[in-house]
Amino acid sequence: EAKSSGKNNFKFFTEKMREEINERLHMENHLRQALLREEFELHYQPQIEIASGRMIGMEALVRWNHPEWGMVYPDKFIRVAEDTNLIIPLGEWVLKEACRQISQWSQQGLDQVCISVNISARQLKSRHLFSLIDELIATYNIKPGMLELEITESAAMDDPEQTIPRMKKLRNKGVALAIDDFGTGYSSLSYLKLLPLTRLKIDRSFVKDIETDPNDAAICAATIALARILGLGLVAEGVETEAQLEYLRAQGCDSAQGYYFSRPLPEKDIMAFFACHQQEILAS
Ligand code: C2E
Ligand code: MG
Ligand code: MG
Repeated sequence: EAKSSGKNNFKFFTEKMREEINERLHMENHLRQALLREEFELHYQPQIEIASGRMIGMEALVRWNHPEWGMVYPDKFIRVAEDTNLIIPLGEWVLKEACRQISQWSQQGLDQVCISVNISARQLKSRHLFSLIDELIATYNIKPGMLELEITESAAMDDPEQTIPRMKKLRNKGVALAIDDFGTGYSSLSYLKLLPLTRLKIDRSFVKDIETDPNDAAICAATIALARILGLGLVAEGVETEAQLEYLRAQGCDSAQGYYFSRPLPEKDIMAFFACHQQEILAS
């Protein structure tokens, strides 16, 4: 009996696996079509300087506006895009769109607000990234410092002998470089010192329970101190409440991003948000 149920289990697993593989294949095909039909769009989440309340940056976050499914969020497709290498053309589209937008907004007076773009591990490994960035900076005539590339801690630390020189090459072009989801990977402090960074982004999992979990509060405080000692900027991600913001402010955190200030916004809503966040509304 054990044997037959074992067999059934095996059959069950293979069917489930086949289903998953089919789903992935489908997703891959849908993604290919979406690239051709240009169904992607970028939303922008404001980053606020805590001391002044000013909007100092935005993170570009990709969305897939599918004609039937509606808005699809990155957790549903970035993994498949990475596994199938479609992240290369998708990432190229994202960078191009972000640079076009930087140039357009700069002409409209938004010229002090940097745009951050997420770069996946595969993109960081692709040779084409360097010439693409040169080409986009030249075509859209943007100041390289207006563009920030976000690389997760795990992507930066995966094969550091290869990624460190690549990150240096990018940094030498004048673009800003941030470590995303900081604290969730396994970076050793000695590598962190070697990376040519401009900012750290504290992962939102540490911010979430900052008021109730002393360990999370300590991790945030230590990361803020670490960034200061290393001379790096710092953004706290996932700030949802005033109490979280106040704790971060008291610890000396520079800037914050999260639903407390704004969800990621479509392009058309950014100018209005910016207009409301030019004054020192949070300074007390
Ligand atoms: P991420 O880079 O860490 O981006 C932050 C995510 O947290 C975004 O989710 C954002 O909407 C969400 N978020 C912001 N504030 C809050 C908050 O206060 N509370 C909560 N609960 N969430 C908040 P989103 O847009 O779904 O993106 C998820 C992830 O997908 C991103 O995490 C990033 O790793 C990836 N991603 C997004 N766009 C791109 C892209 O263009 N290229 C690549 N390679 N990855 C991308
Ligand atoms: Mg990010
Ligand atoms: Mg993040």
